[in-house]
Amino acid sequence: MGSNFVPLTSRDATPGARYARHLNAAGAALPSETVLGTVIEHLRLEARIGGYEAAEAARERSERVYELAARLIGAEAEDIALTESATVAWHRAIDAMPLRPGDRILAAASSYVSSALHLFELRRSRGIEVEVLPCAADGTVDLSFLAEALRRPAALVTVAHVPTSSALIEPVAEIAALAGAARVPLLLDATQSLGQLPLDVAGIDLVVGTGRKFLRGPRGTGLLYVSPRMRERLHPPHPDVRGATWQSGDAVELAAGARRFETWENAHALRLGLGAALQETLTLGVDTIGRYTAGLAGRLRAALGEMPGVRLTDPPAGGGAIVTFVRDDEKPAETVRRLRAAGVHLVAVPAHHGRWDLERRGLDAVVRASVHVYNDDSDVDALVTALGRRSAPAFVSSAARTDVIVVGAGVHGSSTAWQLAQRGASVVQLDRFPDGHTEGSSHGHIRMIRRAYPNPIWDDLVDRAYLAWAELSAAAGERLLITTGGLYARPAVSTTPGLRGPGCIPVDAARAAEIFPGLRLGDEFGAIYDPAAGVLDAAAAMRSLRELGLAHGVDRRTGCRVEGWSADGEGVTVRTADGLLRADRLVITAGPWTGALVPELADLLRVVRIVNIHIGASDPAAVSAPALGPFSVEVPGVGLLYGLPAFDGSAVKIGLDHGPADDPERPQTPVTAAEAATLLGLARRFLPAANGDVVDSVACRYTMAPRNRFAVGALAGTPQVLVAAACSGHGFKFGPAIGAGLADLALGKQRPDLDFLSPGELG
Ligand SMILES: Cc1cc2nc3c(=O)[nH]c(=O)nc-3n(C[C@H](O)[C@H](O)[C@H](O)COP(=O)(O)OP(=O)(O)OC[C@H]3O[C@@H](n4cnc5c(N)ncnc54)[C@H](O)[C@@H]3O)c2cc1C
Repeated sequence: MGSNFVPLTSRDATPGARYARHLNAAGAALPSETVLGTVIEHLRLEARIGGYEAAEAARERSERVYELAARLIGAEAEDIALTESATVAWHRAIDAMPLRPGDRILAAASSYVSSALHLFELRRSRGIEVEVLPCAADGTVDLSFLAEALRRPAALVTVAHVPTSSALIEPVAEIAALAGAARVPLLLDATQSLGQLPLDVAGIDLVVGTGRKFLRGPRGTGLLYVSPRMRERLHPPHPDVRGATWQSGDAVELAAGARRFETWENAHALRLGLGAALQETLTLGVDTIGRYTAGLAGRLRAALGEMPGVRLTDPPAGGGAIVTFVRDDEKPAETVRRLRAAGVHLVAVPAHHGRWDLERRGLDAVVRASVHVYNDDSDVDALVTALGRRSAPAFVSSAARTDVIVVGAGVHGSSTAWQLAQRGASVVQLDRFPDGHTEGSSHGHIRMIRRAYPNPIWDDLVDRAYLAWAELSAAAGERLLITTGGLYARPAVSTTPGLRGPGCIPVDAARAAEIFPGLRLGDEFGAIYDPAAGVLDAAAAMRSLRELGLAHGVDRRTGCRVEGWSADGEGVTVRTADGLLRADRLVITAGPWTGALVPELADLLRVVRIVNIHIGASDPAAVSAPALGPFSVEVPGVGLLYGLPAFDGSAVKIGLDHGPADDPERPQTPVTAAEAATLLGLARRFLPAANGDVVDSVACRYTMAPRNRFAVGALAGTPQVLVAAACSGHGFKFGPAIGAGLADLALGKQRPDLDFLSPGELG
């Protein structure tokens, strides 16, 4: 593959590239689909046949990882040891050296913090001397000084090919030549160069590197190269059954090759993932990757160079895929936070990660952008655009300020937070409970979505709900909604208006039994068949909303209780257990606790306890789609029974759509035997195939509003405060759509389509 050609599929084949503009390959790059699949596949194999058995089955592929790593750097497979990280490799190499008091180690200013910290420890524990090599004008190691320094005995020269703190590229060949001529070993830290810059180990004794950066391998992988001549001079400090054999008595034989530096236990799945990443790197070619990433970084550097108030901080000898810079009017950490809010991921490198470099150049920290083959011009443009935006002037008060505060991390709060962050707003999201709590209304595996609604006034919002689920599924890269059709039954003699909707058709009990053989309705029932009804993977949706929000920079704080709020002409002050916060807008999506935070709605909202049970079946297919889909039955004298098949077909979930009043300030209590028995009795009547045991049960809360409506919109008299009390037992399906609506309203866009739900309407 010649010139700058990089397959466009690189981006498509990178799951993470769907989430945000990731310009942090020098931190941990996004792995490809193949790497991810390789790791998961081996974990599955371990789970299926056992860890040792899986390792045996994958032995050939594991061996290949050494060959691929060797090929990357022009070495032999036996010169390679695999480790958990570059730092572990660094420790293994240097701790194996016979260092004595007074031994001189010559370290470049480009050395990484962990290397420097280890050298300081060796100085303390072994009495070595650490000499930091000065830099030439272009920022690289001053070669004439090095030549001079090597005229006296030295134990080691160590240099980082590319430091963590800039785009500098050290002249490795020249340094290796000087060290070689002086017969002093050279340890090269290639953590930031493996995978983006060509490297040949000729003349180098030790190389350490990581898998997670430009190699795009999994975190927790690293490698160590030990030249054959160096191997004989080193003695592994911690030999174990992998790197040595216990001969007899206390006789020990070290393993051949560099594997003597390895330990037995390791993450085989990650190493196979590293193998897949190495294969991809070699297939694409480091030269090609290097040219592409240097080209893209060059474009970024040029654009930043034009921006007023932005200063490039790379030394003249910089290049490659990394670009560092600062904004004169902002701390790098704040720049990173703002860009993260705009969906652009990069990092700030503080001086304490590279003091020999940054302190010398008078920099407290720099912003570091680093590109890879899954990036393209649109990412560079997005960074430049977001960087150019003026940072919001800090509101000098006792309270930190943000654009919007969202109270609640249920389906409505998390949808709103993500939607706001996508639109570039800074968002602080607060929830009183930790992630995954079961005190509110959004927990549990699954939920039902349907088009069939009693009143046409809902139709537009139902349409928007389906569109919003499609948008969320696409953004999450996961199928969150399975369309199965649904049946909504009630006594055929009923005269009150029932469910209806576009595409919904009335059916009698016999036709209903054909549609869902798993549901047994007596002849006294009639039903509505809704072909668009389906099952939502609620757990995956909540996880995706959390991840997407975080990926777009939502400042999510769980375990933070809002105690109150007050509005004034400038915005809103929110009082939390942790202090005061200020914002332009406040969105309250507090579910069962809405009344406590919005007194004017307190009398209109009723919290009730709702329980569900999941029942197994001897024939799971009989209670799964297509034999059964979401359903409800108005059971005279009992109430509305509803249910839906499990997403994975393991059990059917049922519940009654009413329950006793509940106090959300009291912890949720488990489903009682009596509650389960009531539901089990109904299941035996309507779901003959659900003949198994109760395999799961969930207690939950509805926040009921008059006419089963919602309150969505600005509070009367305080337009800067919005609320969504959107439950009444049917709010989940509307989560993503209402989140988008609240984001529009919070950012000043009119949404007349939601007027029918405005809080003032509720009374
Ligand atoms: C058993 C059951 C089955 C359901 N089935 C369906 C279905 O099939 N289809 C459907 O569409 N809908 C269904 N629903 C309804 C739906 O689940 C809810 O309408 C929806 O989850 C409500 O979400 P929410 O974000 O408004 O509230 P919640 O999920 O309750 O979130 C509110 C959050 O606000 C936080 N909070 C509250 N007060 C404070 C405070 N002072 N400070 C900080 N944080 C605070 C809480 O900790 C909580 O996390 C069902 C509900 C239940 C209970």
